Amino acid sequence: MEVNSIENGIVIDHIKAGQGLKILSHLGIDTRTDTVALIMNATSSKLGRKDIIKLENLLDVDITALGLLDCGATVSYIEKGKLVRKVKLALPDRAVDVIRCKNPRCVTSAEPGLEHVFLLVDPQTQEYRCEYCDEIVKI
Ligand SMILES: [Zn+2]
Repeated sequence: MEVNSIENGIVIDHIKAGQGLKILSHLGIDTRTDTVALIMNATSSKLGRKDIIKLENLLDVDITALGLLDCGATVSYIEKGKLVRKVKLALPDRAVDVIRCKNPRCVTSAEPGLEHVFLLVDPQTQEYRCEYCDEIVKI
């Protein structure tokens, strides 16, 4: 499948096959107005199968939390048809409202409006700690 390359925007590549939809919904893209291409199960020499997302005319997208969904993906910023920046996703040090605390005694369980804040404990073991109750969650 071929999709025309974009002039201005973001390409998220090397997404693990099947993760593309999750990433897209996390980005909060408005599919009624934004130009978005989601390519699922593209062939990849590295991964076998991968997903690719192309966002046209969108450069101001918060990608901090995406590392939690797929820390192997790459994000390319394209302006006027040229690649201006390429970022490899990594686990963020601080994740807000991405991981939910499952500890029933945690304050976030009692107060639904509260943000779920998790801090990276160890990038090797991919463990996060709840800022409120110290509950450890493995990604
Ligand atoms: Zn907690």
